[in-house]
Amino acid sequence: MIQAGDGSGAREDQPGPESRPRLGLTGFVSGMPTRELKPLDQQERKLLDQAVALLSGLRLAVLTGAGLSTDSGIPDYRGPQSVPRSPMTYQQFVGDEALRRRYWARNHVGWRHLRRADPNMGHEAVAQLEQRGLLSGLITQNVDKLHSSAGSTNVIDLHGTFDLVVCLQCSSAFPRARIAEILEDLNPGYLERESDAGDVAPDADAEVDDTAGFIVAPCPVCGGMLKPDFVYFGENVPKDRVADAYAMVDAAGGLLVAGSSLSVMSGLRFVRHAYKAGKPVVIVNRGWTRGDEFASLKVEAGVSEALSYLAERLPDLSQD
Ligand SMILES: [Zn+2]
Repeated sequence: MIQAGDGSGAREDQPGPESRPRLGLTGFVSGMPTRELKPLDQQERKLLDQAVALLSGLRLAVLTGAGLSTDSGIPDYRGPQSVPRSPMTYQQFVGDEALRRRYWARNHVGWRHLRRADPNMGHEAVAQLEQRGLLSGLITQNVDKLHSSAGSTNVIDLHGTFDLVVCLQCSSAFPRARIAEILEDLNPGYLERESDAGDVAPDADAEVDDTAGFIVAPCPVCGGMLKPDFVYFGENVPKDRVADAYAMVDAAGGLLVAGSSLSVMSGLRFVRHAYKAGKPVVIVNRGWTRGDEFASLKVEAGVSEALSYLAERLPDLSQD
C-alpha cells in the first residue's frame, strides 16, 4: 500500500543465522519482537553525540516510518533485510473485485497481528521526549498505532490507521473490530483455517493463500464499498492532515526523522520543508534515504537504540 519496495541495498553487518529473520513463502520477512537494546558502537555514539549537539535546546518535530516498528515484530518493506513486495494501489483496490477480495481476506487475518503488537523502546523514547515537552509533535507513516500505545498523544497518523475502516460511498467510518465481526459472520471458519498464516506486513497484509471464496463486507450503512482507512499508493494524504503536519514542522526548531527511507513524497516533503526553513534535520536510519541530501546529519544506527540514546541525553528546554 504505502511505500514502494525499492530495496535499500545490503549492509555489511548482517546478523548471524540465529537472528536472521524467517523468510515467508511469499517473500515476507518475519521479525521477532525484542525488548533488548543492542550496544551502540563507537562510530554510532559519536554520530549520536553530534545529533544531541545539533538538536539541544530546540523543540523538535519527529517523523517516523516502518523502521520504528521492526523491533515490535512488524517487518519493514524496505529495511536492509526485507524482500521487495508490491503493495496494492488504490486503483487496483477499487477497480478489481478479485484483488479486493484477496486484499480483504489477507487483511482479515493480518489486522489481528497488528492489534497484538506491543510498542518497543524506540516508541517509548519518543513518548518520553513528548512528555518532557521537547516535541512540537509526531508525524508517523506507520498505521500500527504503536506510538499512541506507547503514550504519545500529539500524533499525526499520516497514512491512516489499521483499526479504522471507511466507506467510499457515504464516508461513514467504522472500527475495524466491528467490520471483523461482520466478516466472520460472512466467512464462518475462515479465521480458524487460516490462523496459522505466515508473516504479516506493516499494512496488516497477512500471508494467506486461499482467498478465492472470501466474501467481502458491504458498508453497514449504505451497502457501498469499504476500504481500510489507509492511504494507498496512488492516493493522496488528506489535505488537512498534510497542513497539520506542516504546522508541526513550522512550530519546531528542528526535525528528527527515524526509521524511514523517505521513499514516498508524503514524508519527504516535510524534510524538504524543514531544510528550506534552515532548520537542522537529523535522520536516523539504516541505509540510504531520499532525504539524505537535506540532512544536517545522518545517523546509521538501530532506531530503538538511537532514539533511546537521544532521549537520555537531550536536555530539557529552558522555560522562557
Ligand atoms: Zn456507506
